[in-house]
Amino acid sequence: MRLEGKVALISGGARGQGAVEAKLFASEGASVVIGDILDDLGRQVEAEIAESGGNATYVHVDVTSESQWNDAVNTAVERYGKLDILVNNAGILIRAGVEDTTGEDWDRIMDINGKGVFLGTKAAIPAMRDAGGGSIINISSIAGLQGSPASAAYSATKGAVRILTKSTAVQYAKEGIRCNSVHPGLIYTDMTRDTLDTPEGEREWRARVPMGYIGVSEDVAKGVLFLASDESSYMTGSELVIDGGITAQ
Ligand code: NAP
Repeated sequence: MRLEGKVALISGGARGQGAVEAKLFASEGASVVIGDILDDLGRQVEAEIAESGGNATYVHVDVTSESQWNDAVNTAVERYGKLDILVNNAGILIRAGVEDTTGEDWDRIMDINGKGVFLGTKAAIPAMRDAGGGSIINISSIAGLQGSPASAAYSATKGAVRILTKSTAVQYAKEGIRCNSVHPGLIYTDMTRDTLDTPEGEREWRARVPMGYIGVSEDVAKGVLFLASDESSYMTGSELVIDGGITAQ
């Protein structure tokens, strides 16, 4: 039970990596608040966790809404007594290069992937302070570490998340609130399935991934669990890369 007695809030927890993290956290003893805009899927994850004996509550959280973030943090505190862990996982992908990206697309993805992480962090910090500390895990991407062949705005948002993580780490280290970023490579989820399953997609990942296969949500969730737990107690502002070796080349 690596998260025994902890309370976690995970955005984008209705499917994909966020849902796997919610289930893993609950199986390790955490009470989990799942936020997403996909209400039916979110309630399904809540029910699955309850069926296996865990504690979970689904709340509707559009990460671009400050008031919905505040409500989610209040739900964690009112229902489970505190907040120890925040996973800023929600995100969208727009695969378009510089000239193909519209101003509207730029604003939309910045709002969700960038401002959403800022608002979640801002909402969680007072509750973590009350709890005597906490761990914030921001899901960036390898697109936040190196130039992307396929996206302009997406990689800009993930670069922003990477450096916001370090600023948060520095600003709150003395209060025992840690903040680290996770940088997944090519992970097979609803976000990427359409492109990975095409012949061009397969050619791309075979050429790019030294380990020779696409990662799954569980590969990322195990790293997020480590950063959420006290096992990573001396880590803050760091980057955990989970990419089958893509960025090692
Ligand atoms: P996913 O299955 O699409 O999960 C993302 C979740 O976030 C979805 O449930 C999505 O709902 C939700 N979401 C979108 N906009 C939201 C909003 N405004 N408020 C609240 N929730 C919202 O994709 P995933 O692969 O698990 O992605 C999780 C994170 O990993 C993302 O931050 C992504 O950028 C990052 N990542 C993924 C990969 C990869 O290869 N899959 C690689 C690197 C990083 P909708 O379906 O309605 O959009």
